Amino acid sequence: MASNRNLLVLPGDGIGPEVMNEVRKIIAWMGKKRAVGFDITEDLVGGAALDKHGTPITDATTKIALEADAVLFGSVGGPKWDTADFSKKPERGLLRLRKEMDLFANLRPAKVFDALVDASSLKPEIVKGLDIMIIRELTSGVYFGEPRGRHTNAKGEVEAFDTQRYTTPEIRRVCAVAFELARKRKNKVLSAEKANVMYTGVLWREEATKLHKESYSDVQLSHMYADALAMQLLRAPKDFDVIVTDNLFGDILSDEASMLTGSLGLLPSASLGAPDATGRRKALYEPIHGSAPDIAGKGLANPIAQTLSYAMMLRYSFDLGKDADMVELAVENVLKAGYRTGDLLVGNTDGVKKVGTQEMGDAIVKELDRLA
Ligand code: NAD
Repeated sequence: MASNRNLLVLPGDGIGPEVMNEVRKIIAWMGKKRAVGFDITEDLVGGAALDKHGTPITDATTKIALEADAVLFGSVGGPKWDTADFSKKPERGLLRLRKEMDLFANLRPAKVFDALVDASSLKPEIVKGLDIMIIRELTSGVYFGEPRGRHTNAKGEVEAFDTQRYTTPEIRRVCAVAFELARKRKNKVLSAEKANVMYTGVLWREEATKLHKESYSDVQLSHMYADALAMQLLRAPKDFDVIVTDNLFGDILSDEASMLTGSLGLLPSASLGAPDATGRRKALYEPIHGSAPDIAGKGLANPIAQTLSYAMMLRYSFDLGKDADMVELAVENVLKAGYRTGDLLVGNTDGVKKVGTQEMGDAIVKELDRLA
């Protein structure tokens, strides 16, 4: 029976297909036990697509992604393709999707599970209970601004330059995502820029303030310079709820925040586009880790980041918050019960059960059964 939910699954390379296999088990469980079904198309991306089609993503796959309600992405890349031409690198497949789907808001939650509080490099009392969301503008700013390039200047020196550029609609649309998300969380937004030294920072602060006054005055808004925020994230990360910032600062601050939680193998992300007339947003969900060639094919990868990316998809693309909660609770309980893939074996390992990719996936499904 058609589900009216079109999902494109792109496992990619390295550990991507391995961790996606575990999510497939959860998708099947959700279909059977909670009637949450999808019409799934599966396709190649990255090195796998390059090997078969000579390009890291075909036009046909891109078209399916543009028409899908959501894309669930694994990871791409690996040493096999290191020598590929720049335009054919596996990562270009992901960049093309981000660009053509116009995914301007990158959501990166940083949540610390109680069972893993020791995995953080910060003291447990600083990170225990941490649950923040960083929203990074993803399609503009200094990574895209023109002019950019390098040349030899009049003095004969080589000079390179990039341009940080933001328009008011670009700032407003990503701030709107932050305000809307905050309403479903603790109702607090912190906007970060460098209004003390950058024109784009001044505009960013003005527009965030204006939009807040016009449409979101019920949400608590504050501002901080991005460098001060980098310090505060280490000193008192629990002070924050939703953080919104530009492409460059977001790149750095979201990596910093992810390390508060301990392991790459746990962290999901979502990238969202603008809503269409029906309110549907184009969206892509992926773990923040890469294809981990050092452990690929060995059954060692942690499938939790991919699993939590699927949970984010349930919540943000399909409004299935209760089902997303259930998946997240199952993950939390499995960690509480002591199941650990190799990447999580830090600190005190008394009483933990060392498991591989499939055993971790099976444990999550078993816990879903118990919760149901
Ligand atoms: P990586 O994230 O693949 O791996 C970094 C380290 O973390 C490795 O030691 C790896 O074993 C470990 N790790 C990552 N995910 C894990 C998981 N789920 N479980 C257990 N351990 C895990 O980063 P890298 O090594 O810098 O990059 C490897 C390849 O991935 C490169 O080709 C890179 O370009 C690509 N990459 C792709 C994406 C993406 O697809 N979005 C993102 C980052 C890197």
